[in-house]
Amino acid sequence: MFPRFYPPAATNCSSCREMGYIVRPRGEFAQAEICACVPECTRCGGSGRMVIERDGSRQIGRCRCQKLPDRIRIFNTARIPARHARSSFVNFEISDASVIRAFGEAQKWVSEYTPGEENKGMIFWGMVGRGKTHLLVATLRSLVFTHGVQVRFVEFSRLLSTLKEGYSTGRSDTSLLTELSTIPVLGVDELGKGRLSEWELTIIDEVVSRRYNAMGTLLGSTNYRPADPTGAPPPNLAKPEFERQTLGDRVGWRVFSRLKQMSMFVQTRGQDYRTSARSISHARLTTVPNENAG
Ligand SMILES: [Zn+2]
Ligand SMILES: [Zn+2]
Repeated sequence: MFPRFYPPAATNCSSCREMGYIVRPRGEFAQAEICACVPECTRCGGSGRMVIERDGSRQIGRCRCQKLPDRIRIFNTARIPARHARSSFVNFEISDASVIRAFGEAQKWVSEYTPGEENKGMIFWGMVGRGKTHLLVATLRSLVFTHGVQVRFVEFSRLLSTLKEGYSTGRSDTSLLTELSTIPVLGVDELGKGRLSEWELTIIDEVVSRRYNAMGTLLGSTNYRPADPTGAPPPNLAKPEFERQTLGDRVGWRVFSRLKQMSMFVQTRGQDYRTSARSISHARLTTVPNENAG
């Protein structure tokens, strides 16, 4: 069941699955647009404005057909990479029980999210290739279309290199830092990835602390076990990283304890999602939260 945006998408539209919008890779990012099946609004004739009688006077207001274009605009600023344009709850493939659990947690989290209030975040963790990034992107996408909340996707190592570039060229990139600190929902992919210098840890600390103080919501994914620092040495190539170090080892006490306060950790374990996706049941469940509600 998908309650729809207004005007409703065509029944049985195979392009948008009656959601009214489609998402495509365009350039570097995933971009949404209104599906061609959505008819012109008959209430406002497509102008988006309506005359409203209020307290005996006539005012110009926005037509409800503007809700979908509004949410599409928000989605198109999320900077979701083009390669994840198709990642949604609707096409998430389920491989085993713990992945089903993670999938269910993500959907529940979206349905319980309350705009304008403090919302505890969620970090998906597990070994490489367990659909973590798909779940992260699907959660961000669903948040936008369900609640109209502003979100931003950023890859951890990319975040660090961008900030570093800003500093090294003399303009400490405070606008980017401020943006990342104040966006209502930030999704960080591959938390803890890479060989982290002291400087990088300081920057992560700053972003996380500022978000913590601003009561922003943090979503994320990581290959590392969410446990306190163990003092294990940095990974070498002979052994998989996740077997040795914890997320605490990667980001340090201070950042890790903040992450624990700000987010819950959801494990995605199971078969390798990238190689076994064909052999498993499809996740088009009736429990998919409807992205068009609200
Ligand atoms: Zn359509
Ligand atoms: Zn209208």
